[in-house]
Amino acid sequence: MTIVIDNLSTVLNRISDACAQAGRPVDSVTLLAVSKTFPAGAVRDAFDAGCRQFGENYVQEALDKIADLADLRAQITWHLIGPLQSNKTRPVAEAVDWVHSVDRLKIAQRLSEQRPAHLPPLQVCLQVNISGEASKSGLAPAEVPAVARAVAALPRLRLRGLMAIPEPAADLAAQRVPHRALRQLLDALNAQGLALDTLSMGMSADLEAAVAEGATIVRVGSAIFGGRASPVPVDVR
Ligand SMILES: *Cc1c(COP(=O)(O)O)cnc(C)c1O
Repeated sequence: MTIVIDNLSTVLNRISDACAQAGRPVDSVTLLAVSKTFPAGAVRDAFDAGCRQFGENYVQEALDKIADLADLRAQITWHLIGPLQSNKTRPVAEAVDWVHSVDRLKIAQRLSEQRPAHLPPLQVCLQVNISGEASKSGLAPAEVPAVARAVAALPRLRLRGLMAIPEPAADLAAQRVPHRALRQLLDALNAQGLALDTLSMGMSADLEAAVAEGATIVRVGSAIFGGRASPVPVDVR
């Protein structure tokens, strides 16, 4: 618990320093605490420390944790930030508030059809393979405008913006390059008539570069919760 509190205050200071450096108001950046591989108890600790926005990568782990923390559901905004297969869209459409990892129109169409009528529209971002890595998911930048227009027209979704996981880079100047490219892509979409307000970019290692380039949501895991032993949880409870 105290570790999460200490880590969280370090991360919040990093964000406010980066905002000051960029001449941006500190409340223009939302901290998304990425709790993947950590148990529901760690989320509760972060909640008690003040976090209200949580991001999960793996669908089943997200659903389990949301169920475990049902008593906090009304106060937490849950974001899915990891890969989404089309056979998993229904429980996601029913359970979360945001999906950052929409990387094809078919997924968006299913999420829109399956979003329950009693819930507000699902907030979504398109994931962009901004560094052009062969192994990474995400739309190629050139594909984004057409998909964005189609997604923006779906009735039960609200397209908010773009998300990316840039290739790691050693220094701030190099880290800023892909973040800048994502921002320019968002600016271009808005110039074409969309009204997008979200740039989901920046993680533990590069949040300063992301804030410098206009990130509105930074997704921070290890700097808050500590290192992850393995990419797949051994026991999420
Ligand atoms: C794990 C993950 C993060 C957080 O990464 P850290 O380096 O632990 O801050 C952010 N975004 C996505 C999509 C992730 O999978």
